Amino acid sequence: MFTRIIHRATKIHNHHSLNIPRRQMSMGTTTETVVSRLKSCGLLQTKGLIGGKWTDASDGRTFQVNNPATGDVIASVACMGEKEAKDAISSAYHAFGHWSKLTAADRSSRLRNWYNLLIQHKEELGQLITLEQGKPLKEAIGEVGYGASFIEFYAEEAKRVYGDVIPSTLPDRRLFVLKQPVGVVGAITPWNFPLAMITRKVGPALACGCTVVVKPSEFTPLTALAAAELALQSGIPPGVLNVVMGDATKIGNSLLESPQVRKITFTGSTAVGKKLMAGAAETVKKVSLELGGNAPCIVFDDADLEVALKGSLATKFRNSGQTCVCANRILVQEGIYEKFTSAFSNAVQNLKVGDGFTEGVVQGPLINEAAVQKADSFIQDAISKGAKVLVGGKRHSLGFTFYEPTVISDVTNEMLIARQEVFGPVAPVIKFKTEEEAIQIANDTNAGLAAYIFTNSIQRSWRVSEALEYGIVGVNEGVVSTEVAPFGGYKQSGLGREGSKYGLDEYLEIKYVCMGNMG
Ligand code: NAP
Repeated sequence: MFTRIIHRATKIHNHHSLNIPRRQMSMGTTTETVVSRLKSCGLLQTKGLIGGKWTDASDGRTFQVNNPATGDVIASVACMGEKEAKDAISSAYHAFGHWSKLTAADRSSRLRNWYNLLIQHKEELGQLITLEQGKPLKEAIGEVGYGASFIEFYAEEAKRVYGDVIPSTLPDRRLFVLKQPVGVVGAITPWNFPLAMITRKVGPALACGCTVVVKPSEFTPLTALAAAELALQSGIPPGVLNVVMGDATKIGNSLLESPQVRKITFTGSTAVGKKLMAGAAETVKKVSLELGGNAPCIVFDDADLEVALKGSLATKFRNSGQTCVCANRILVQEGIYEKFTSAFSNAVQNLKVGDGFTEGVVQGPLINEAAVQKADSFIQDAISKGAKVLVGGKRHSLGFTFYEPTVISDVTNEMLIARQEVFGPVAPVIKFKTEEEAIQIANDTNAGLAAYIFTNSIQRSWRVSEALEYGIVGVNEGVVSTEVAPFGGYKQSGLGREGSKYGLDEYLEIKYVCMGNMG
């Protein structure tokens, strides 16, 4: 975490060195207006939530949350560690006894209240997301609707956690299967969807009767805290949902080491996911992981050009390329290559970059300086190995962490940009000849989250969907996420599924009850 804070500081410093006016350490007008609006409706919480009480760090430490578009400080937030994490685990453990014994209908109605409050505050929450994460306001408000949809869906599913009766192998026995909540859940979430990555975990956990300790990203804790405030208002009892943030390693280790925590659910980088999986072994916790992707987006000769353009732009440039299901490699068949690449480049050239609060902006800043340097270094590596920049390829003249939407061609699957997630607005284009070659290139990676194909052939749609080693396949569609469908990856992109009826399984234990002497 502290490295990250240094990254933010570096960002501001670099901005200064680029000779662009800076507003570091003071609030700009937009930040000020939004902050005062959020304060007036009680949605600017800056302390952790433990046992239903807003709590300072025990040693009084805080860290700053910045607006990535301006460098403005939005707020100082409690910087917590081991002690607070342990207190939060203990609160969640005690609350579990009561919460898990409520009727499903009771839990459902409280989740429904929470959903209603999230929707009532869609505008304010959207503004808060834009403020601390940077995505354009329209996209941020879209995230509130998407994030809230998990709470609504699981308010409904809470009532459908059925068990089973198994036909017995002996006449005097009766065999039952009960589904019971796993217990206290530790949920660690990233900054790219500050609300939705939390609700996608907390919704099913609470529906099943689990209680939760959430550790949001240090970049975007304010949205998590605002959502938690609304959860309190909705009648979710103290201790059922706790939020602690600050020292990621200390909080993470406390969650891993505690025998009271029965499950770790994580969304974030593959590297941290592997550490958590290893750390969970000591206490044999259930683990679900939503990790990084390396999505191929395959455009076949027989694709509808307009559909392919719209779909690939959406999947590549949503959230400035900072989503785990963003296309990381655009594979284009040779027959449509020239036409597609030129139309795609034109469209990318016209994407409006700027502060997410500015009307018409579709590309906000990247989250931090490290993200800019990653994009730059991947592009340099590709150029050194023969790739060509068609559009963009460098920092945007707006400074800070704004980056030019970029298209590079003549990319091969050996370049860094095709091997790893760039997590920025850079679209590498790879030319291929045959369907077999496209499948081979697409599957030649350790990741396996999302893949996209564009084709008008029904046979090819099935054939390629089945051959792709990915948990999610979009066919002629670039935006695939929804609360009603299972989301998750093959290979090193993760374990388990979120959303849909399958998302509940991650928070349930299966208990077999064998009753004898029943003849
Ligand atoms: P990250 O660096 O792995 O951080 C994710 C979370 O883990 C943050 O809350 C972070 O805390 C925390 N963390 C970091 N080190 C930790 C440790 N040693 N122990 C416990 N927690 C620790 O990932 P990110 O940069 O925020 O997110 C981007 C990544 O998430 C990308 O790879 C993306 O593909 C992936 N992602 C996957 C999905 C999916 O559904 N598969 C969805 C969204 C994003 P701090 O921020 O406080 O350091």
